[in-house]
Amino acid sequence: MKFNDLGLEPSLLKAIQEKGYTKPSLIQEKSIPLILKGKDVLASAQTGTGKTAGFTLPLLQILFKQNTRKNRKIRALVLTPTRELAAQVFENVKEYSTYVDIRSTVIFGGVNQKPQVSILRKGIDVLIATPGRLLDLHNQKFLSLSNVEILVLDEADRMLDMGFQRDINKIMNLLPRQRQNLLFSATFSKEIKALAKGILNQPVMIEATPGNTTVDAIIQRVYKVDKSRKTELIIKLIKEGNWFQVLVFTRTKHGANKLTKKLIQANISAAAIHGNKSQGARTKALAGFKERLVKVLVATDIAARGLDIPLLPHVINFELPNVPEDYVHRIGRTGRAGAKGEAVSLVCVDEKVYLKDIEKLVGSSIPSETKEGFEPDPNIKPDPIKQKGGNRHKSNHNRSKNSGRSSGGSRNYNR
Ligand code: ADP
Ligand code: MG
Repeated sequence: MKFNDLGLEPSLLKAIQEKGYTKPSLIQEKSIPLILKGKDVLASAQTGTGKTAGFTLPLLQILFKQNTRKNRKIRALVLTPTRELAAQVFENVKEYSTYVDIRSTVIFGGVNQKPQVSILRKGIDVLIATPGRLLDLHNQKFLSLSNVEILVLDEADRMLDMGFQRDINKIMNLLPRQRQNLLFSATFSKEIKALAKGILNQPVMIEATPGNTTVDAIIQRVYKVDKSRKTELIIKLIKEGNWFQVLVFTRTKHGANKLTKKLIQANISAAAIHGNKSQGARTKALAGFKERLVKVLVATDIAARGLDIPLLPHVINFELPNVPEDYVHRIGRTGRAGAKGEAVSLVCVDEKVYLKDIEKLVGSSIPSETKEGFEPDPNIKPDPIKQKGGNRHKSNHNRSKNSGRSSGGSRNYNR
């Protein structure tokens, strides 16, 4: 299948060509024609499969076809869970709309609202927003959503994880009833289906999860190591292997900061990215990492979710996630676009329960080894409290491969 076969306008095809895409991804192939037909769509495909273009291209075409340039009103609203994602989607919308007369902008919190408001005043067709700032500016009457024809909920699973359900409900009440709804998500959990039921109108469901193949393309490795020696080991691995563009996951914001400091002390350029960082610091860290000025990006799950960092050679789990699905999302950051990647997990005795849960979810055991000089001390026994914490998730992932996480209380929200 080619992009030409999807019913897209030449002006969009030209922008696609300039992006260097030769053929649509599976999710794009499925979603674009349906959206062009005006259907409500509930789409799920793994991170990195091109979902953004999957909704942006048809959305632009629909708006462009019935153009009302004179009096621009917000006709399409794209909601994303984080500022980085909003900025990323906006970049994409701008690129794809190079040759069509569509104006777009992005609004998110953590920065001065003034420049955002002044752009809104000039009139725009497509608004990309995080829920909080959107409601904020709406309450201040700086924008109206009463002309929205197309609503997109991007990374919807992460929106629920981050507790945006209520904000989403509020936003729904501000939209016209008659509209097209598109919901994109990395997973098809029960929670996502429930959300979709309340918002979408007779949706077509599309799933483009290529089974486990994405995970299979990744070399996975576990190093058994004591907790107290993880920092030392990670420094050794990065230095010995001369690794660059390493994405490291920690479970907490505090852990991310601590590790980043230690890496810098060891002369490894590193930056942390998490919810407590200012917008400026997060943007700077991500840009530095993409430009390879920063070797290591230390991130928490929520901060990293959906970030478009193509072709990562190395992902390191400094700590295993207690939600097994997060492991799959984390390692999905490597081996993108056909390139092989390596995912390394540092596992201490307390995390063995998490490892078991993860192996069950991915359906195979992950080869485990010890690094010379870092053999775990056999006298260190698992912390009984943490063991219980891990087991509580046992029931979650038995439902199905694509099942989402539970809304249970043991998920670590301090991220
Ligand atoms: P997702 O939202 O599914 O995680 P993105 O939309 O962020 O994925 O896209 C991931 C990467 O793939 C981006 O760098 C994007 O430019 C690229 N991409 C998207 N569509 C294609 C395509 N058809 N061919 C090649 N690369 C693509
Ligand atoms: Mg996405």
